Amino acid sequence: MLGVLGGGQLGRMFTIAAHQMGYQVTVLDPDLDSPAGRIADQFIHADYTDAAALRQMREQCAAITTEFENIPAETLALLAKTCPVSPDAQSVAIAQNRIAEKQYLQSNGFSVAPFAVIDDIEKTHHVQDLFPGILKVSQFGYDGKGQRQIGDHSGLVAAFQELGAVPCVLEKKLPLSCELSIVLARSANGGMESFPAIENQHVNGILDISIVPARIDATIAQCADAMARRLADALNYQGVLCVEFFVVQNDQLLINEIAPRPHNSGHFSIDACVTSQFEQQVRTLCNLPLGNVALHQPCVMVNLLGDIWREKTPDWTRILAQPSAKLHLYGKKEARAGRKMGHFTVMDETAEKALANALRIRKSLTT
Ligand code: ADP
Ligand code: MG
Repeated sequence: MLGVLGGGQLGRMFTIAAHQMGYQVTVLDPDLDSPAGRIADQFIHADYTDAAALRQMREQCAAITTEFENIPAETLALLAKTCPVSPDAQSVAIAQNRIAEKQYLQSNGFSVAPFAVIDDIEKTHHVQDLFPGILKVSQFGYDGKGQRQIGDHSGLVAAFQELGAVPCVLEKKLPLSCELSIVLARSANGGMESFPAIENQHVNGILDISIVPARIDATIAQCADAMARRLADALNYQGVLCVEFFVVQNDQLLINEIAPRPHNSGHFSIDACVTSQFEQQVRTLCNLPLGNVALHQPCVMVNLLGDIWREKTPDWTRILAQPSAKLHLYGKKEARAGRKMGHFTVMDETAEKALANALRIRKSLTT
């Protein structure tokens, strides 16, 4: 019996991978109707700090992982007293707080976007150089939520209040030549496998499309891969880790943020790789050998957000009619704007062909 904290789509895809390998799964989530909870062997409906629920997890699970970085790090530390837990509380604590994350990255020699910690708004007269910038809450932001574009100091003051006057980081808004991610799996003994570099396109701060392999110079891809591996080593990380990069002018690579779990940009691996990011999560959690992550074919993953539901469910035959396209739906009942409802992956001889086909399919869903 494996345990997973969080019942979203990432937990659901972890559960499917674990089932495929013969494991049972216990899911804990505060939401009564969660995508993973629905297919779990056992569902514990409780808060992430509920002592009785955590005791039950410790007693019945052989190992526990997380699908969500906002699990209190103390919860992971408590579970780890009597049960193998990966990733560890310390890595999650860094990834769940933008201030800790940026400071950790900087102090370990990784480049990040110019930033300042915004804590006391009265002491922010030194941040002019960061305008135009993006103010981001340090905790609990995702899919572009908890962020505001900032043009000047009065805008900063207003946005800080609007975001609840909680600790934030202000980042300089950079002209991006592209965004990349590296998803890797690292075992307890330090062995690592990383997927090919992924090219990511975001719309309104939400991942829209991932293209694999990324259409970039091989040396940039190698450099991103080496940075992600060095970071995983520095964290002594066990599990699946995603490192998001900005590529800025002169092909300089900056680390945007990290996710201590499988990542939306790695979903292509389910259909296009020998071993998926979720199977790697099972393997690292259970101290099993890592799988081969070779790509069968170039591919493109397109997110399906609630926006396209409108009056009725989209006509999925538009996707399924393409033999090399694979549809994944997460079983969420309510389609809301900006909510990740599913995705599809299209494979082809080249990334360009896959992209053209994916865009055509996506367009046909709404026309
Ligand atoms: P989230 O946790 O919501 O993914 P990110 O910090 O990754 O937050 O921001 C979401 C997206 O917003 C990024 O992938 C990028 O497209 C854009 N973005 C964020 N920070 C910057 C920046 N400093 N300069 C330019 N674009 C940015
Ligand atoms: Mg991000």
